[in-house]
Amino acid sequence: MECINHVGKNAVMQCQSCGSFICSDCACESERNLCRSCEVYSFAQHRDSSIRSLVVAGAIFVLMFIVISNPETSFVTRLSGAYVLSSIIYGWSAISNYEKMKAMNFNKVYVFPKCIIAILIGWLVLPYKVYKDLKVIL
Ligand SMILES: [Zn+2]
Ligand SMILES: [Zn+2]
Repeated sequence: MECINHVGKNAVMQCQSCGSFICSDCACESERNLCRSCEVYSFAQHRDSSIRSLVVAGAIFVLMFIVISNPETSFVTRLSGAYVLSSIIYGWSAISNYEKMKAMNFNKVYVFPKCIIAILIGWLVLPYKVYKDLKVIL
């Protein structure tokens, strides 16, 4: 078998996504044994989902900050309230990834507990996730 990118070079493995044969040079370039076009595609998809979660988290943050605009509420309380609520999306996706890994689905049984767990995990992972998403986008 010949590499899809390099004429005359023997392929050493198959792209995990599309099944194209790739040589050792191509395999080294890729972290997950993907051919070039699949690598570019998966990066673009990753980038899109990073932008989406940042936008949603940011929107929830601003919205919550405005909603909790009771004059008796202190600035810090509003800020931390908005922070915790906007982190739900990151906690939620962390749990969903875990479910996918274990082939489980909590949605049907446990929507409410899942929300609580999402908040608990979310505020912890938010800074790390935002950092990771920003690194993918920039
Ligand atoms: Zn491929
Ligand atoms: Zn190659």
